[in-house]
Parts: sequence; structure tokens; C-alpha cells
Amino acid sequence: MRTLDDLDVDGKRVLVRVDFNVPLDQGQKITDDARIQAALPTLRELRENGAKLLLAAHLGRPKDREPEFSLRPVAERLAELLGTDVKLAESLDDVPDGDVVMLENVRYEPGETKNDPELAKRYAALADVYVNDAFGAAHRAHASTEAVAHLLPSAAGRLLEREVATLRGILEDPARPLVAVVGGAKVTDKIGVLDAFLDRADTILIGGAMCFPFFKAQGHEVGDSLCEEEGIEPARAILEQGSDKLELPVDLIAGQEFDADTAVKTIDGVDVPAGWMGLDIGARSVERFAAVVASAGTVFWNGPMGAFELEPFAAGTRAIAEAIAASPATTVVGGGDSAAALAQFGLADDVTHLSTGGGASLELVEGKPLPGVEALS
Ligand code: ADP
Ligand code: MG
Repeated sequence: MRTLDDLDVDGKRVLVRVDFNVPLDQGQKITDDARIQAALPTLRELRENGAKLLLAAHLGRPKDREPEFSLRPVAERLAELLGTDVKLAESLDDVPDGDVVMLENVRYEPGETKNDPELAKRYAALADVYVNDAFGAAHRAHASTEAVAHLLPSAAGRLLEREVATLRGILEDPARPLVAVVGGAKVTDKIGVLDAFLDRADTILIGGAMCFPFFKAQGHEVGDSLCEEEGIEPARAILEQGSDKLELPVDLIAGQEFDADTAVKTIDGVDVPAGWMGLDIGARSVERFAAVVASAGTVFWNGPMGAFELEPFAAGTRAIAEAIAASPATTVVGGGDSAAALAQFGLADDVTHLSTGGGASLELVEGKPLPGVEALS
């Protein structure tokens, strides 16, 4: 993969695809600017090397030019962070000159998500060089992430470079033992990741609602727990293939409703009675999982251990996050909700690498080629 070291940008206009898909509240205020912050090293390096920047980014999934998906609040925040003027180009046909210019939401263009070559030509006509730093969008073949990369001298920005190197490093040459901690809501989304780790990891710890299809496959009662029906057969297959590597919870915290004020009880074991749902892993599970994490050489974590947004069910995720933060291992965290959990517990700076990509980090760890990355090779 080509990097900034392979590009001459002095005096050139560089089209930089960034991932500025930030959360906005009703009043259009940015509630978390981590993704903007994460692109700053690349943007600063390019400017120091004499480039003028033309930024391209998407925000949400607009159906047409809906104003609530405008990048204006993002341009304003970036201007504050860079300490310079950032102009917003409303239309591709009228892009102002300037040291830092941002195109409006690329998903306002109907051809963007179709990887339309004509749209890519219009992007390319606006710049001399292309840099992709949008790791979070690299698993999509879109006009601003894939097609345009073939039309200009192109390379990865520093964020994309670091994401790919770190996540590939886990697959290729991890310090052992390699431990995967997989949780969250959907087994079917994460089967590919489990398969990849069955081949490579020494231990796979399973928490969150992920564990219920496994328990169901083993013949346990799951009560009203979130248990994906389509996940049960894949869970059974994984149990047969790799049961010596898998560790499932041995106790649970259950609630009657998905609500912070609901009745709560500890279940010593993993059979959940009717009328209850398992919403967190229990204290004995935490102890076992934390010990595995403490003696790991590398930890990859994706997916919370429970419904951590609800205080009565946050303890398991908090304790595992703390164990990962305290572990001397190389620790890599992927997934939007896992990142949010780390931030909520004030531990975001205590892991080796916090990936900015949800889907992209999972696909990379699964060993799938990412179109946005392949286009830079
Ligand atoms: P990530 O974004 O890190 O990949 P997911 O999106 O897969 O993680 O899962 C996060 C969600 O899973 C959280 O909203 C959390 O509330 C939910 N979750 C975790 N455990 C449970 C559970 N036992 N029951 C219901 N929801 C759960
Ligand atoms: Mg999520």
C-alpha cells in the first residue's frame, strides 16, 4: 500500500477522503469529534508539505440533499481544530480556491455509493493527487473511496496506514497468547470474525448477547434474552470446531426488561428463566475472562459484554474494559459500541489501538480485502 512517503504534494491540490461521519444531536452540534481529531495528523502533515487540501467526506445516509446531512457543522469544527479557515463547497461545479476546502456530503451525489466512474472523474478533475484516510469507509467501493483512487496519483493517509498495519499485524504476527474478546448483539454479523479467530487465536472469550445462540445450541434455557435465531446453527458449528478455544460465561446478570429501573438478579449458571433476560456477564465470568486477558500477549476486543448503556448491566463490560486497559498485552479495540464503552469508562487512551472503523475493522480482521485499501496498492 502506498503511503504519504510515496507522494509529492508540494504546491499541489490534494483530494483527501476523510471519515468525518460524526454523531450530531438535534441542534446539529457534534457530540463526539474523535473522527475529526483522528484525521488531523494527516491533514497537518500534508499542509506542512505544501499541499492545499480539498476534503471529501460522507455524513449519514441522506436520500437526497437533505440539509440535516450537511457537513457545515463539521467544516466549522475542523476550522477550530486546524486554526484556519475551512470553506464549504456547496456544489462540485463551483469549488472555491483556498488552503482548506471541504466538499459537501459526497452522499448528496447519486453516483457516490454506486462507485460511478463519471462521478469519480469529476472528483479527480478538482485535484492533482488523492489521499484516502477514511478507514471507516474503506470497506465500501464508493466513487470517493475506490474509483477516484485509480484516476490520480494516490496513497493512504497516516490514519488508514496505522489502522491497516495494526489490524493486519494481529492476523499475521501476533504476540501470543492471542485472545479475542467478542460480544455485542449480533452473532451473524460476527461469525466471520469468530471463524478467523478460530484459526488463529489461542482463546476466544464470548460475552454479550452473542452468548445466547451458543447456550441455546448447548440446550440451555435462554428465557427472554436477545437470541438471534439465525445465529444458533453457526454457533453450533463453531462449538463443534473449536470448543477447546472458546470460553463462554458461567454466570449472568438478568433483568426483567431492557431498562435501567427493572428488577435485577444474579444467575449462578447460564439457564435464564422465562420472564427474564440475560443482560450482563456475572462476577465469576468476569474473573475468568479478566485472568485470560491479563496473561495475553495480544487482545482483540469487539462487542460489549452486556447492555452497558444501562447502569445495572454495565459492570461486566466495565471490568473487561479495565482488564484490557491494564493488560501489558498489545490491545486493539474495534466496533462503535465498544469504543463508546471505553470512552464512557474513561479508558480510551489506555489501549494500544482504538480503531475508528466498525465494519472496516471487522472485515480486515476477517481477512477480507477492503476495496478502499486495495485501490492504493
Ligand atoms: P460494536 O458496535 O462494538 O461492534 P455491537 O453493535 O455488536 O457492538 O453490540 C452493541 C450492543 O449490544 C449494545 O447496544 C448493547 O446494549 C448490546 N448488548 C450487549 N449485550 C447484550 C445483552 N446481553 N442483551 C441485549 N443487548 C446486549
Ligand atoms: Mg454497534
